Amino acid sequence: MTQDTRNVNGDSTGTAYDVVVVGGGAAGLSAGLVLGRSRRRVLVVDAGEPRNAPAAHMQGYLSRDGMPPAEFLAEGRRELAAYDVEVAEDRVTAVLPDGAGEFEVTLAGGRSVHARRIVVATGLVDELPDLPGVAERWGRDVLHCPYCHGWEVRDQPFGVIASEVTGIHQALLVTQWSKDVTLFLHTVRELSDEDWEQLAAAGVTVVEGEVAGLEIEDDRLIGVRLAGGQVFPRSALFVDAKPLPRHGLLNELGAAMQDTPVGPYPAVDPTGRTSVPGVWAVGNATGPKVQVIHAAAAGYQAGAMINYELVMADINSRTAMEL
Ligand SMILES: Cc1cc2nc3c(=O)[nH]c(=O)nc-3n(C[C@H](O)[C@H](O)[C@H](O)COP(=O)(O)OP(=O)(O)OC[C@H]3O[C@@H](n4cnc5c(N)ncnc54)[C@H](O)[C@@H]3O)c2cc1C
Repeated sequence: MTQDTRNVNGDSTGTAYDVVVVGGGAAGLSAGLVLGRSRRRVLVVDAGEPRNAPAAHMQGYLSRDGMPPAEFLAEGRRELAAYDVEVAEDRVTAVLPDGAGEFEVTLAGGRSVHARRIVVATGLVDELPDLPGVAERWGRDVLHCPYCHGWEVRDQPFGVIASEVTGIHQALLVTQWSKDVTLFLHTVRELSDEDWEQLAAAGVTVVEGEVAGLEIEDDRLIGVRLAGGQVFPRSALFVDAKPLPRHGLLNELGAAMQDTPVGPYPAVDPTGRTSVPGVWAVGNATGPKVQVIHAAAAGYQAGAMINYELVMADINSRTAMEL
């Protein structure tokens, strides 16, 4: 792969890219695809920890429903290769402004590259309730998103562990997939009258007391155990996972954050443009409810806008030189 084949201006050096995309999940790869097809020199750097890696299947992505997540990403990388987009299995450790409106990017593997624009597509980490068995079963029979997994476990006995009051809403929601739902109040001490009324109307059984752990047999969840020792047979469990966005690079760049009900996320325009000129953020880095199809769409929008901005920047600088 030579850089000249993908650079319409023919002005590349071995370490100079139009765009460095940090993160090679759906959001980052999609940005890379649009930029590659726009004849941009692109480096996608991916540390290889996509959020849905524990799940066997990716659901709800039209035309790819049920595809294993790793296969989806491998297919994406194959598509990018057709446009000479470079994908590096590495981690970006720093993005520093170069003083001229562009960026110096440092990779953990020792490379240092220059980029005119940056896409932050670093995703997030789900912080799970600290209960024995939960991390091991995550994405298998311990779940958070009924749109991702509800169909596959429909009509089974569901448990919902409420670490916060959002668990109550989750219990109400999942009654769409099973009529046998038990809500474990766990650390939630009080419910409002409205909560009790809605839970009763939805047919949700409510169990008070802290959960101590899960019962597993033959590599399957079979029950939820309370601190008092009582076991409730359940085969699918929904938990409140706390989303922890990977915002280190954006914070170091000084990107403005906005408060959301689940904590601060970068303030971005509809194309993903952050408050830092030249830096875009897309995918789960911009919010926890972003599904794969949204992440891919956001990457596309950012890629197209970055290309347009670069086209105009180059035209304007030529115009300025001619004056
Ligand atoms: C268990 C589970 C199941 C799910 N199932 C579904 C489903 O069925 N359907 C659906 O639509 N959604 C599902 N989701 C949500 C889905 O995971 C996200 O929508 C999707 O991963 C968001 O894509 P992304 O590109 O923003 O982030 P990610 O896919 O998380 O990709 C981010 C990438 O950036 C990399 N990265 C982070 N920091 C750096 C750095 N400094 N340098 C280089 N690389 C870095 C990470 O290693 C990672 O590979 C599920 C989530 C979970 C937790």
